[in-house]
Amino acid sequence: MNVPVLDLKEQYKSLKSEIDKAVQEVLTETNFILGKQVNELEKRIASLCDVKFGIGVANGTDALFLALKGLGIGHGDEVITTPFTFFATAETIANCGAVPVFVDIEQDTFNINAALIKKYITKKTKAILPVHLFGHPADMDSIMVIAKEYNLFVVEDCAQAIGATYKGKPVGSFGDAGCFSFYPTKNLGGYGDGGMVVTNNEKLRDTIKSLRVHGSGSRRYYHNMLGYNSRLDTLQAAILLVKLNYLSEWTESRRRVADFYNEKLSGLPVVLPQEKSYARHVYHQYTIRVKERDRMLEQLKEKGVGTMTYYPLSLHKQEVFKSLGLATSNDLLVSSKCETEVLSLPVYPELTNAQLDYVALSVKECILQAV
Ligand SMILES: *Cc1c(COP(=O)(O)O)cnc(C)c1O
Repeated sequence: MNVPVLDLKEQYKSLKSEIDKAVQEVLTETNFILGKQVNELEKRIASLCDVKFGIGVANGTDALFLALKGLGIGHGDEVITTPFTFFATAETIANCGAVPVFVDIEQDTFNINAALIKKYITKKTKAILPVHLFGHPADMDSIMVIAKEYNLFVVEDCAQAIGATYKGKPVGSFGDAGCFSFYPTKNLGGYGDGGMVVTNNEKLRDTIKSLRVHGSGSRRYYHNMLGYNSRLDTLQAAILLVKLNYLSEWTESRRRVADFYNEKLSGLPVVLPQEKSYARHVYHQYTIRVKERDRMLEQLKEKGVGTMTYYPLSLHKQEVFKSLGLATSNDLLVSSKCETEVLSLPVYPELTNAQLDYVALSVKECILQAV
């Protein structure tokens, strides 16, 4: 049997008529840039996140970048974040001219360890950028208390966590801004790049809306500042509007897959993903920790089970940050340990029961062989 780590074809097949119709409508209307579907998606994502405004942008990376820019983060500033995330999280901080300051993670959630943050705050610190990694929310109450005490902005990287909640409240609604990605493999993915910033701050909303169209305001071709070209296109918005209707159903499926693996793999020498009592996990990834990770990767590949390593190298060790002089000398021991142990299994809603059985059995076999 062959179980890919993700299968986007199955999902398209099940939605083909609806999606084709939505695309055809855009092609007929030819309103390709900032058409009405973008506006509608902005409203619906904002409402899903329980915030006032959504601003569609070109991708999740730009969502982070424009949020930081919009808050005035730049040269001389420091932004506290996690080393255990996709590169874009820290890349956008550096691209603003600011310095990413990495704080180690919690072993059980893979998210930034809020208890360590204070130690890293300096006069230059302007913001905290937590990531809700793999779909599990970061400890937002603790982070917001620190942010308030030190007067820091909070920008949430929600790229992997759309629909996740912390104490019943959606991610993206805690900080000054929440940033989402609609990259095709995300829980809500388009058929190309896309992203969105959500916020309750009207001024920030206006600034980001301006930044995404070259810094122009309500009058086209009149510019108050330098901006970018970073818009969510109408075709993607139309596709995402169709898919958004299925998101909660898909999230439930992901959670059922996680429950299934949790049951089948319990009692084995493997650390299963945790769901804290404050969290509703949306399982963008189902990530286990095992001692002989690289051997297991090979063996699962031979068995036809698709797996991924998220992430093989913590960001504070990345060559580029070293060469820019941005690498921290902090010992980020938990992150460094996790990078050698993590293994993500297929967790998408379209997995069949036979595939699930096969993945669980294969993982079990590999684990037991190691002992
Ligand atoms: C995917 C992702 C991003 C970037 O999103 P893009 O749409 O690919 O630019 C940022 N942060 C995290 C944690 C991500 O997973």
